[in-house]
Amino acid sequence: MKKTQLIMVWLLPIIIIGGLFYPILGYLVVGMMAFLLALSFFKGRYWCWNLCPRGAFLDIVMSKASANKPVPGVFAKNWFRWTVLVLLMSFLVVRIIRSGGNLVIIGAVFVGMCLITTIISVILALFTKHRGWCAICPMGFLQGKIGKIKH
Ligand code: SF4
Repeated sequence: MKKTQLIMVWLLPIIIIGGLFYPILGYLVVGMMAFLLALSFFKGRYWCWNLCPRGAFLDIVMSKASANKPVPGVFAKNWFRWTVLVLLMSFLVVRIIRSGGNLVIIGAVFVGMCLITTIISVILALFTKHRGWCAICPMGFLQGKIGKIKH
């Protein structure tokens, strides 16, 4: 595990627990999404292995509880990764539109998205590999695609 991960991992509980009381913390997710996508143009998936709070949590905590079994084969298929991406992004967009422009509700939408995907990542870590979620994570997938544009 890397030193950067030991620092960044704390952002995960700050967002998913703190965000339940202070939904505005959801904007940390927005900032991180913008930063990681910009970074991926220069450094591919550097974010995933060094800075991602959830990736750090999966490495530091869930690696000790994982069944360490192969992820389902469908996780490696591009169509499946695109499907997960489109579903989650659509869910995000619909909920933002429904917020009526209320900035606190929009923050809560991002906290909720982070919480739901973290729960999925924990379930996948328990029954497959500790980084099972990372095989289908839309942000990881996009970083890989953007990183390839430059190289
Ligand atoms: S794939 Fe997603 S959850 Fe995994 S480290 Fe990358 S951004 Fe984080």
